[in-house]
Amino acid sequence: MSEAAIIDGKAFAEGLRGRVATFASQFEAKAGRKAGLAVVLVGEDPASQVYVRNKGKQTVACGMNSFEHKLDADTSEADLLALVEKLNADPAVDGILVQLPLPAHMNEQKVIATINPDKDVDGFHVVNVGRLATGLPGFVPCTPLGCVMLLKDRLGSLSGLDAVVIGRSNIVGKPMAQLLTAESCTVTIAHSRTKDLPEVVRRADIVVAAVGRPEMVKGDWIKPGATVIDVGINRVPAAEEGKTKLVGDVDFASVSQVAGAITPVPGGVGPMTIAVLLRNTLVAAHRNAGIALDENAI
Ligand code: NAD
Repeated sequence: MSEAAIIDGKAFAEGLRGRVATFASQFEAKAGRKAGLAVVLVGEDPASQVYVRNKGKQTVACGMNSFEHKLDADTSEADLLALVEKLNADPAVDGILVQLPLPAHMNEQKVIATINPDKDVDGFHVVNVGRLATGLPGFVPCTPLGCVMLLKDRLGSLSGLDAVVIGRSNIVGKPMAQLLTAESCTVTIAHSRTKDLPEVVRRADIVVAAVGRPEMVKGDWIKPGATVIDVGINRVPAAEEGKTKLVGDVDFASVSQVAGAITPVPGGVGPMTIAVLLRNTLVAAHRNAGIALDENAI
């Protein structure tokens, strides 16, 4: 069996950031200000600190303003909500992202619901969830939107293809299924209670795995030639004592023998998430400033 083509998310994300930078400088010339993204981090979670630092760096590299707000872990929910309200009212802020997870004493849903939906570049606000479900313009969560961009780049039209999404979370699985439905795929959502998952996955021309279980999807689950998108990021022990490595939800070694194309981990879906966040921020800036933008061009 021949080896699957590798879908290079790192290269695609670099191209996307390049397009964002071009449009961001045109926005600055037209609006007389830079587009701006505010990122709020509560507490000291090491992984979240790395994400926030990378988001800030990449925002600035694309010619947009990054406003970072770091709050102590014991900040009250009321103080966080007050900050979100302040950012909602700030005309220099086009996008607001509150890094999840929040400390246990805060209600994540309440915090997300306080973000102005037109600045909710993560697409988590129920208004944006509803807009996606009804086909209205809004903001779509970054990771699934990045997956669709990779799929369309690889396959062109997705119309009529059978797609199986494994996972039904609000941030990946469900919006992924909505986006594939909008692309006219025939979509199945599989999850922890699905009966005979391998048999369900074998029907798919497109498989999206967003489960959080290391190397769960095996080569003999895959229809020959299918396109496989691996969203999973799992840290597991490496062969060398004391070391760890990242693997996806897909068993790359066996699946790449059967699939037509596959995203690697790392270097597949992962780099897309921040690039799409920057894209969403630029789109928000144009909408908020009333400046026209061909959103499909980026
Ligand atoms: P989640 O835990 O919220 O959801 C997991 C889903 O998998 C659930 O809907 C559950 O029903 C399903 N599931 C669990 N066990 C299953 C099984 N045995 N068979 C079938 N389905 C099963 O996770 P999430 O937030 O959607 O994230 C999924 C994975 O994607 C994680 O590895 C996460 O780290 C990764 N992720 C990556 C990015 C990125 O930027 N690339 C972004 C978000 C999440």
